[in-house]
Amino acid sequence: MGSNLQLDPESVTNGLNGDAHVRFRKRVNGYPVFGTNAIAHINTNGHLMEVTDDLFGTSSLPSTANITISQAVVTCMTAVSNDGMTLVSVPSAPVLCYLYDSGSLSFSWRVPVSGKIQGIPTSRDYYVNALTGAITTYIDTTMSGLHRYIYDANNLYSTGSLARSEGQPSVGVASVDMAYVNFGKIYNYFSSVYGRDSYDGNGASLYVTVDYGLNYNNAYWSSTSRSFTFGSGYMCAPFSYVYDITCHEFFHAVTTCTSNLMYVNQSGALNEAMSDIFAAVLEADDDGGVGVNTWMMGEELGVSILRRMDDPSSVSSSYPDHMSEYINTSGDRGGIHFNCSIPSHAFYLLTVGGTQATGDSSINVQSVGIQTAADIFYDANQSYFSENCSFEEAAYATTRSAMNIGRREAAATISAWYAVGVLDSIWGADGDGWKITALGWLDFDANGYVASFDFGWAWWSQYNSANGGVYMWLCTPEKWVYTSAEMYPWYYDYKTNAWRENTDGTFN
Ligand SMILES: [Zn+2]
Repeated sequence: MGSNLQLDPESVTNGLNGDAHVRFRKRVNGYPVFGTNAIAHINTNGHLMEVTDDLFGTSSLPSTANITISQAVVTCMTAVSNDGMTLVSVPSAPVLCYLYDSGSLSFSWRVPVSGKIQGIPTSRDYYVNALTGAITTYIDTTMSGLHRYIYDANNLYSTGSLARSEGQPSVGVASVDMAYVNFGKIYNYFSSVYGRDSYDGNGASLYVTVDYGLNYNNAYWSSTSRSFTFGSGYMCAPFSYVYDITCHEFFHAVTTCTSNLMYVNQSGALNEAMSDIFAAVLEADDDGGVGVNTWMMGEELGVSILRRMDDPSSVSSSYPDHMSEYINTSGDRGGIHFNCSIPSHAFYLLTVGGTQATGDSSINVQSVGIQTAADIFYDANQSYFSENCSFEEAAYATTRSAMNIGRREAAATISAWYAVGVLDSIWGADGDGWKITALGWLDFDANGYVASFDFGWAWWSQYNSANGGVYMWLCTPEKWVYTSAEMYPWYYDYKTNAWRENTDGTFN
């Protein structure tokens, strides 16, 4: 080693057996060397046992740059543009360094940049030769849990062979490259909006098979093999082309790792609905807003629409848009791909507001917008749904989640479930409907009033036949003032869309 070489300790980690591993940054002529380390391995007695190192000569290396820092940045900006990257910030802190590659060192400017390629956040270090001004290479420095492995089954009924993995450029096979881009967008949505690192929240790698089977029309998530499969398609586009279908499958994986809704009967239909809901949410995000395509599933296949959330029965009368049309069947695991349109229609109504699609109910739901509606359903799926959650339990759970956001949102949520008939009413003599709704236990006194409760929130909702309004009464630990004459201190007047304090014990 020449005297122009120095070693600076950079980090220490401890191995499983207690050994310490000390990483050193090498410097030559005072400049850091990237692409190599020296690592000293020290046992628990403090003895140096081994050194891992790359050996290179340091005598006759250039140490004076011909290229200035600003010339290096200009060269780098051209490369960034040629590589299809949109910068989110100007290059910061270029440094002169040596880049190690296969035993030799090139004297370089290292220029860190961060931006987006096809919407996917990307960070890179570009290396510009400090003598010639040419771009030597770039090294991806994006540190995230996004790890995509796209396999091409090439029309066989198999997992296929690995066609593109994380950081690799386009391979020129559309079904492979579109899956790669789509899963990147989905990962980034959940990471940026919900702080969720992949479907399991823990950076799970994304194993994806495309062009599966010959003329195979389906896509699925397997919770057993933890992988996604997209059919080659018959008389339509390959399924991996289609963003909303990809989002739908991804959210099945999220559900597996959160509520784990059982894939049968109402919990199975709710599982399907959650996937359609987040397909809509992500498609709207991708499109820059809610549009007619938001509510259609699989329209990009180029054939018929699979389902639509805004008007389910317009696709086929098999799709119910109200509980009165619920399909009782032993097929399709209890009709899960059909009955899902009931909760997904409730989500649609919560998002855009208005009345149920085919006039089965006259309840007018107030809009909360798609991101708030998404937050409510996401939180309920993560925090409140049990594995066998029924539609009615989902109505309570989402309303409970909405209460974390606000009263207006909670009232809108519960009215959406009324509108699709999941919540119905116990009809009183005056024609008003009543429903007691709670997550927890209520004790009633002899008069039918609530004597005590043991949960944080309770609410009552009522459909008033006289004015068509849905009222919701909310009792919180802070606001609960129980007397037999005045048991509902606050209620939501759905007609005027405002909370009112009940001062006289009537709700007119
Ligand atoms: Zn599904």
